[in-house]
Amino acid sequence: MPPLSPVTSQPVAPPANPKPACERCLELAADPRRREPPACLALRNTAPLVSKSEVGVPFSMLTFACRDCGTVWRLYDRANELFVSWVPERPLVR
Ligand SMILES: [Zn+2]
Repeated sequence: MPPLSPVTSQPVAPPANPKPACERCLELAADPRRREPPACLALRNTAPLVSKSEVGVPFSMLTFACRDCGTVWRLYDRANELFVSWVPERPLVR
């Protein structure tokens, strides 16, 4: 058996997919309220998932995947809100 590795100062394990996010995904992360997806994103599910938040506000969610870096994005569109929000499935790697 190999000896136990010493405790490191970093409690967070590195992501399984360390491929860095492409420039467009980083731009989207910096401006997550715009409606238009960047050209590198491909829609994954054609039918939006429609649900309600904890406070009863209906929203729809679409899933996109980046053709360049593979980042998966969720686009949340809430009723009566001017802006949408883009949320990456996992934190972006630079
Ligand atoms: Zn990308």
